[in-house]
Amino acid sequence: MDEFMQAAIDEAKAGLAQGGIPIGSVLVHDGKIIGRGHNRRVQTGSPTLHGEMDALENAGRQPASVYKKSVIYTTLSPCSMCTGAILLYGIPKVVIGENHSFMGEEALLKSKGVEIQMVDSDECKQMMSDFMAEKPELWNEDIGE
Ligand SMILES: [Zn+2]
Repeated sequence: MDEFMQAAIDEAKAGLAQGGIPIGSVLVHDGKIIGRGHNRRVQTGSPTLHGEMDALENAGRQPASVYKKSVIYTTLSPCSMCTGAILLYGIPKVVIGENHSFMGEEALLKSKGVEIQMVDSDECKQMMSDFMAEKPELWNEDIGE
């Protein structure tokens, strides 16, 4: 497993251990993690703190030149909100753990020239399918259903 996807998975597990939704993300620039996070909607009562948003938040304000040479890793296919942030800041590449549990806006990302690398991780799939079976209402809230 790629060390950065492993870091995103570790974040997802940390979120799960806190009673949250197991989705993690890291933002990588120049071969280093500059922001890491996990879905904290449950923990903070936030409607917007998806894993990718938390990683971007924790990276703090960065110049455009940094985003344009960064890669964002996420354990689950990015939803429309996170896709919007990725497009807004011009992050050119997204590495995704899996998209079986949820298919995000990959087509939109590709149409805007963003490179997508699919890991298709069994561990990511298992984490999400266990969670969705256990707490379907929390999951549905996460995707606006
Ligand atoms: Zn999202």
